[in-house]
Amino acid sequence: MAQGDTTDASTSPPIEPVDTPQQRLYNSRVVLTTYPSQLGIEPIPLHWGAPTASARGPVVVSRSQDTFGKRNAIGAGGGSYCIYRALAVAIGALAPNHRPDFTMTEPTHQIGPFPAWSDPEKIVSMDPWGHATVEHYSEFLDQGVDIRPTIAITKAHMKLAEIDDAIQRGFLRRDGEIVTEGGELKVVKVASEPVWYLPGVAQRFGIEESTLRRALFEDTGGMYPELITRPDLKVFLPPIGGLTVYIFGDPAHISDPTKRLTMRVHDECNGSDVFGSDICTCKPYLVYSIEECAREAQNGGVGVVVYFRKEGRALGEVTKYLVYNARKRQEGGDTAANYFKRTEFVAGVKDMRFQALMPDILHWLGVKRIDRFISMSNMKYQAIVDSGIEIIERVSIPEDRMPADSKVEIEAKIADGYFTTGEVPTGEMLKEVKGRNWDEIAH
Ligand SMILES: [Zn+2]
Repeated sequence: MAQGDTTDASTSPPIEPVDTPQQRLYNSRVVLTTYPSQLGIEPIPLHWGAPTASARGPVVVSRSQDTFGKRNAIGAGGGSYCIYRALAVAIGALAPNHRPDFTMTEPTHQIGPFPAWSDPEKIVSMDPWGHATVEHYSEFLDQGVDIRPTIAITKAHMKLAEIDDAIQRGFLRRDGEIVTEGGELKVVKVASEPVWYLPGVAQRFGIEESTLRRALFEDTGGMYPELITRPDLKVFLPPIGGLTVYIFGDPAHISDPTKRLTMRVHDECNGSDVFGSDICTCKPYLVYSIEECAREAQNGGVGVVVYFRKEGRALGEVTKYLVYNARKRQEGGDTAANYFKRTEFVAGVKDMRFQALMPDILHWLGVKRIDRFISMSNMKYQAIVDSGIEIIERVSIPEDRMPADSKVEIEAKIADGYFTTGEVPTGEMLKEVKGRNWDEIAH
């Protein structure tokens, strides 16, 4: 019998031992999936939305030998980086049974717990106790159960040319608290990897859990058969990017209703954010929000930027560049009127960010009200308001911060419902908003 035919650890016959590197790393039997009633399968209880960390139980997803039978989650830890971990093991750089030494890794700041942490409907796409593994689940770690944090909290300084410029302009001052004498921003950072409570995710999108499971199974190339065979396991760690929170000022102020909160929720646009591509408003908007956040903190409030790894509206950079080409080459040139059409022709949809899960991180942070929301996105606004958080003021990107070639994008978005304090362009006006021609991009 070939290894690929083996479907069940309890019934499959052992394979003749062969002395290959693979043989030394793993058991000879490949366990393709598991079943709820299978011998040796006894998941550690996990009660999503329970009132305390210990009542909730740890999220256990590792397939390491002494944890395998105790797993209570499907997928793999580390988001998309699970693939690099696999590579490290395969080439012998990482022992498959390596356990992290968590000494001195604990959070630098206390955040929460907040009531939303024990509300099974408020937080469904991250583990609210993901940073407190050592604090709350040490008894399991001591027993040898392989549990990994999915959240880490640290602090740092940021040095940005644009912040130096804001100091020069007198918009920010060196106060030693928020902005150092050297012009650096003090920041508290939170990184979070995705942990999906499948019934909650399905409910958020108004679909059946079984439909969600089937789609996840099919569109990951059948990578996680337990999505189908283990309906008793309700938590899935998907192989996607996570998010980072940048906090300017005292994190305790975020949940304090007497303090003002300025916030931006930003979705990754690597070409603009890091490399300064000028076809969109992403980096200028991000920089503007960092300045506004720092200023709010200097005025006694707090600022928060949440950065999601959802490149190119979660369509990815390859799709994004295909769309750029089609936009620039189409008859009549790159116009705001055809902006979304070109994305839909290539991707089938104009956006795959589906903001319904986004507010989870805000509830994890204890946000109740956002005084200044630095975003024009109607989808982000609606998702946040629908989740029970009040938004007092929406702030659009100042006109003078927009690169000329980004007008196509921003005018198309405004016509599509994005927030603006300015004029909403009509169909005829959108045809007039043109980007740079293809032959003007000379290399
Ligand atoms: Zn962009």
